[in-house]
Amino acid sequence: MSKTVICPGSFDPLTIGHLDIIQRSAKLFDRVIVVVMRNYTKNVGSFTTEERLDFLRRCTGNLPNVTVDSYTGLLADYAREHQVHAVVKGLRAVSDFDDEFRQALTNQELNPDLETIFMVANAAHMFLSSSVVKEVCSLGGDISKFVPPEIHDDIVKRLSRKG
Ligand code: ADP
Repeated sequence: MSKTVICPGSFDPLTIGHLDIIQRSAKLFDRVIVVVMRNYTKNVGSFTTEERLDFLRRCTGNLPNVTVDSYTGLLADYAREHQVHAVVKGLRAVSDFDDEFRQALTNQELNPDLETIFMVANAAHMFLSSSVVKEVCSLGGDISKFVPPEIHDDIVKRLSRKG
């Protein structure tokens, strides 16, 4: 049986931490669907859904078993609609644990056919988040070690345009 997993997230914007989880998932599973979730509990975000999708497409174009999509709604419903039975989440130190565990248990209730798999973050990316990228960049810092080179200039341009 072919194994497909979902890598969901805000990706606002994509970092090398996210990309590492996507690449490692693509090695383990037959197919990976990266889904930009538009979650009302998080604020609207800095990048549009189209920009986030474009960044993801450009950085995963070399991975033939990875596709990119977006969804407004529950992950449990997306998985059911697409007949996917596992989601891969990256786990950074303790900071992610409570929230990720709560989300995994909620998804168990909403869709008992959906498993959550936690993939331990690369030690070098433990501190990295989209918020760190935005904070450092908006203060004029170098984000070249935090984001994929393909999208670096666009992120810097876009965040400086925001003022
Ligand atoms: P963020 O927490 O940066 O806003 P997202 O909501 O887009 O990120 O997260 C999507 C998924 O990627 C989550 O499972 C999150 O734990 C994981 N993730 C985010 N940053 C990293 C990182 N630096 N290393 C590993 N996984 C990460």
